[in-house]
Order: sequence, then structure tokens, then C-alpha cells
Amino acid sequence: MSRFFSQKYKNLKAYTPGEQPRDMQYIKLNTNESPYPPSPAVAEAVAREAKKLALYSDPECTELVAEAARVFGVGADRILMTNGSDEILNFAFMAFCDKEHPVVFPDITYGFYPVFAELNGIPYEKIPLKDDFSIDAADYIGIHKNIVIANPNAPTGLTLSLTEIERIVASNPDNIVVIDEAYVDFGGESAIPLTDKYENLLVTQTFSKSRSMAGARLGFGIGAPSLIADLQTIKYSTNPYNVNRMTAAAGAAALRENDYYMENCKRIVETREYTKNALEALGFFVTDSKANFLFAGSDRIDGDTLYRELKKRGVLVRHFSTEPIAQFNRITVGTKEQMDVFLAKTKEILKETAQNENR
Ligand code: PMP
Repeated sequence: MSRFFSQKYKNLKAYTPGEQPRDMQYIKLNTNESPYPPSPAVAEAVAREAKKLALYSDPECTELVAEAARVFGVGADRILMTNGSDEILNFAFMAFCDKEHPVVFPDITYGFYPVFAELNGIPYEKIPLKDDFSIDAADYIGIHKNIVIANPNAPTGLTLSLTEIERIVASNPDNIVVIDEAYVDFGGESAIPLTDKYENLLVTQTFSKSRSMAGARLGFGIGAPSLIADLQTIKYSTNPYNVNRMTAAAGAAALRENDYYMENCKRIVETREYTKNALEALGFFVTDSKANFLFAGSDRIDGDTLYRELKKRGVLVRHFSTEPIAQFNRITVGTKEQMDVFLAKTKEILKETAQNENR
């Protein structure tokens, strides 16, 4: 830290993104990217826009918003596009939370929420999950605080039903509820239809997972026009051209080919269930994930050991060393071929570990 760094950030612990190593070719099952490429129309749109890079992008993302309005069945005035969904989440913390309006979220969830809170000087509270790693909706009923819930949650993959979400939103009418639906396309139920009815609900989604665009950085929020207007104020006060022109064109092209992406999601769901069954057969406890990742742990091997041994063998998964999930790994669902390699390596590691113990 330099002597110039603002004192207000002196305790800030930045978010640690999943590793993106360059030392060798890994089977990357650690950052929940899609194993499938974007549709060819997306690459064509990017190439077309690249020729116009001398010009600023459209700050309103008019074409992209129009496509999203069509796909999600909401008015254009209910949508804000951002640089990844991390940005809309940060905007929401900035716009709706402060010392008088603290925020709560589950203790085990997306690790960026406490960072956004600390960055913006917002008091926050973590509500423990139940022993089975699920969120207890009852903990959030009528608590009169702003709430952020990932649904499906990360890294557990577990979901709340739309009825439970609605009860949480309806019982906190004077607070904002953000539902982070980064993984909703893999089997969750979207709360977007509820945004018509509740002015305190903001739903966020991303093109990073189900739409194969993690490297393009595109996310968005859907909510009441008044909420979107507040978020626009934050956007225009930080970075009006937050979505670059290639990404905006790529996003619009992706939405025009929505069926291709939803078909990929189906394949990922099938591969997820196949991998889950295989892990259970190896004695792993695996949560009932509705996301594009599995969350698995076993008494037969320490979570960190499995992560390190897989890495040595060219397979990257994500391990969190925090309790109570240190025994677990989060495994992104890749192609069936990638998951077969992951399973074969896991079997090999389990066998070696058992042999070492018997020595
Ligand atoms: N929410 C959750 C729950 C996530 O896991 C992620 C991915 N790291 C994000 C939001 C942000 O993703 P992106 O900024 O790529 O849209």
C-alpha cells in the first residue's frame, strides 16, 4: 500500500477471482464459464463493430436493450446493461445501501457481496445457511433491511422457489431485494415476472455463463423503471460507456440466437446430472445444484488435497478454504468429455490416497 492510498480503503480486502493460469493447458472447471463457444453470428457482430472502434459506444445500448426486452418480455425502461453483472451489483450497493440502509446476504454466497459493501462503506450482516447448505427463506421475512440473494446460490447451486422469493420481497416493501440470477438458466425459476408487481425487486443476470460471453463482460438488471433510473444515475456518474460497442453487438446477436444458448444449457444440465451420479457413486456428497456447477465433498479426501491433486493432473476446480465448506469443491460443468477426464482423475486420486493411507 502506498502512503497515498485513501484511509477509507485501508481495510478493504479485494475479491479474489478464480485463477486463470497460463502455465499449461488445463481443463478449466473453476470459473463457471460455458464449455461451448458463442454462436458464429456473435463473432461476426464483433468483427463488424471492431471496424468502428474509433467511435464511442451507444451509452443507452439501444439495440441490445430492445433485444433483451423482447427475450425477457419486459419494457426497455426496465432494463440496464452493465459491464458484467458484477457492475450492476456494485451499482445496486451504491444506489440503495448506506449506513442507514444496511444489507444482508447469506454467509455462504458469492464472495463479491461483502467486498461491494466494504468498498462503499455499507454495514452488512451475513445470515448463516441451514446445515444442509440451503437458504432459510424465513430468515429474510420482514427484516426491514436490504437483501441480496443469489438464486441459485453460489457455490452450493441450491435454489429458493419463486413463492419463497415473493414472500421475501413482499414482506420487506421498504427495502430493496436483489436477486442475483447469474445461474438461473440451468434450472432455476426467474423472478423477472415479479418485477412488474414489486417496485423493490431488482433481478440481475449475466451473459457470462449461459450465453458463453464471460470474456465480453455483459450483465444487466431488470426492475421497476424508477429503480432502473436510479441505477442509470450511478452509471452516468461513473462510466457512461460501460458496455463497449463490440460487447453490445455481441449481446444483441446472442439474444437473436437465444435457442442455440438454451439448447447448450440443456446439454449442460444433462452433463451435470451425469457427473453428479458418477460422483455419488464414488461416495461424494453432492448438493442438488441447479447451476452450471456441482458442489461436492467426500470423507475419503480432503477438499484442498483433491483440488491440488486435480490441478497437478491438469484439471482446475475451485476450492474455498473457508468453513464450513473447506471440505468441498465447486466443479464447473464442462462437456461430457471434460467431465469424463475429471471423473477418471478423481478416481485415480482417490485410489492413490487410499493406498497411501494403507501404507
Ligand atoms: N453473481 C454470481 C453469483 C457469480 O458467481 C458471478 C460470477 N463470478 C457473478 C455474479 C458475476 O459475473 P459476471 O460479472 O461475469 O456477470
